[in-house]
Amino acid sequence: MRGPFLSEQYEGHDVHELQVLNPATEEVVATVPAATAEDVDAAVVRAGRAQTRWAALAPGDRARLLRRFATTVDGHIEELARLEVREAGHTVGNARWEAGNVRDLLDYAAGGVERLTGRQIPVAGGLDVTFHEPLGVVGVIAPWNFPMPIAAWGTAPALAAGNAVLLKPAETTPLTALRLAELALEAGLPEGLFQVLPGHGPVAGNALVEHPGVAKIVFTGSTAVGTQVLAKGSALLKRVTLELGGKSPNIVFADSDLEAAVAATPMSFLDNSGQDCCARTRILVQRSAYDRFLDLLAPAIESVLVGDPADENTQMGPLISKVQLDRVRSYVDPDAPGIRGKAPEGPGFWFPPTVLTGVEPHARVAAEEVFGPVAVVLPFEDEADAIRLANDTPYGLSGSIWTRDVGRALRVSQAVRAGNLSVNSHSSVRYWTPFGGFKQSGIGRELGPDALTAFTETKNVFISTEA
Ligand code: NAD
Repeated sequence: MRGPFLSEQYEGHDVHELQVLNPATEEVVATVPAATAEDVDAAVVRAGRAQTRWAALAPGDRARLLRRFATTVDGHIEELARLEVREAGHTVGNARWEAGNVRDLLDYAAGGVERLTGRQIPVAGGLDVTFHEPLGVVGVIAPWNFPMPIAAWGTAPALAAGNAVLLKPAETTPLTALRLAELALEAGLPEGLFQVLPGHGPVAGNALVEHPGVAKIVFTGSTAVGTQVLAKGSALLKRVTLELGGKSPNIVFADSDLEAAVAATPMSFLDNSGQDCCARTRILVQRSAYDRFLDLLAPAIESVLVGDPADENTQMGPLISKVQLDRVRSYVDPDAPGIRGKAPEGPGFWFPPTVLTGVEPHARVAAEEVFGPVAVVLPFEDEADAIRLANDTPYGLSGSIWTRDVGRALRVSQAVRAGNLSVNSHSSVRYWTPFGGFKQSGIGRELGPDALTAFTETKNVFISTEA
């Protein structure tokens, strides 16, 4: 079924299957059959049947089953984490957190089932009430950078709100998603309610987007593909949520605790080897603190432990694939000035921690999302200049502000056009707070107290008391 729509990365591969490689060794971990458009059709039918029964269950019973799913995941944290280390090259510490995040998302969503209440609105001559009704079948299209958490961000609240979910994991990372589907059945979720369709984006992903039986698409991935998903989905008036790329600033003012700002900087863009949509890859430093910042940063970058992701001490593993390694290499001139860390030689998709200096703000590496362990440092003069530089990007996902001045922290937080900011910290994502992007970083919000309502339609019913 090779067609012109399949990208060159599949050249020479059997498009009927997905080959999962260990990014740290390049060894084949597994081969998984790739779902076709016909498989998606059949899955939508099964999901539709399961959803009708699921939505009819008493809320307390749905909540109990989701909690049981969370408990079952909790019993398999180590197994899921080890699988993620092998298929995605995540450090084992991160991978344990990611599996735990799935458990927590399920638990949190389960707590919302009985609280998904409508309103009673005063009207004359009767009673007016609203209901939050499930959408039906929801398609979740996930990327490879955080296969488990991002799959669960969409899946957990969608199920809790009474929907069925069809999850299409990324080509390179289907294994933890497939295991989660098995655990869902083990926990007692009805057959067909949560199905995983590993497959190629332009085939299985596209089939979900174009299927009239799929009411909503939750897409996380690149801005290029997200734009296509939105265009195709809107032709069918499908609900679409997009979580896309970023080029987030780490704004360091001279009045900050500079040692603390420096200490937090390496992992703010090296975590997950920089394959993080919230990575703070534009380090903006006030000119009066610029030289001192770089002097302190150099040893911090050089001492980051890059290596075997299964080793408990490792801080950074490999990139996901050869395609990604080539992409990251294309952004970095080996002779460009800056700070370089160490990376293993030999098999595996390794790239060293890299901080480039003397880069123009509009240079490709400073403007585009690299999705690798690469950041640039740019000097700024004052608060207005920092805000101008921070906003000088089509993206608007995350950002950090380092200052001891509370007024400045608030002013800059309000002026930076991004969905998730942190002050004197780099944290971005908590399952109980909203997450999403401004500008080309996305549309809609996930997580947080309103996560379930995003998977419902509001129905208004007026009941006359005068008939
Ligand atoms: P990608 O856009 O290539 O793929 C994402 C998913 O979409 C995959 O499952 C892929 O198979 C599928 N897909 C590809 N083509 C498709 C099509 N035509 N129709 C339907 N589905 C299709 O992105 P990627 O390389 O897997 O992930 C990296 C990107 O994801 C980065 O740009 C990153 O910033 C972004 N990302 C964003 C967030 C966020 O929350 N904002 C989180 C993680 C990753």
